[in-house]
Amino acid sequence: MRAALRQSWLALPACRPNPPVGCVIVFRGKIVASGFTGAPGMPHAEFAALSKLEQQLPLRSAHPREFTLYVTLEPCSFVGRTPACARKIIEHGVGRVVVGLIDPHPRNRGTGLDMLKAAGIEVELGLLADEISPFLAPHLLHSEDDGHSHHNETVPPNAVRDGQDPL
Ligand SMILES: [Zn+2]
Repeated sequence: MRAALRQSWLALPACRPNPPVGCVIVFRGKIVASGFTGAPGMPHAEFAALSKLEQQLPLRSAHPREFTLYVTLEPCSFVGRTPACARKIIEHGVGRVVVGLIDPHPRNRGTGLDMLKAAGIEVELGLLADEISPFLAPHLLHSEDDGHSHHNETVPPNAVRDGQDPL
């Protein structure tokens, strides 16, 4: 997880307004792929790491469940400009996902973890949270109104969302 945290440092400043997230994938005790949040519209950390993993021919014969994915923030659970990372992780079929912080955003807030668990993936939350939080927490949103979300990135700031009255 410390390696995932180090990856996340590389995300700034290009990732903003999305939070700087880092991810590594471990296979038999070794890091075999890593990624961090790209610029808006570019892959998130988990997606980037899984894409790199898929390019490694020698690992294609490994059983997907042998891989453990470490990510500093709960994977996103809905489709924005990029596909949902939780969906991508499930499609890949990794056996275990270790998450640093839960995403406080109202459109995620445990939903990403629930999706993984429902798909039979072992999920562990809170590893190195004390080290991740000081760096990552200031970039996280707690409400839809904060205006610069990872998660409302498809909605322009002044757009009217479904079911909402115009301001
Ligand atoms: Zn994501």
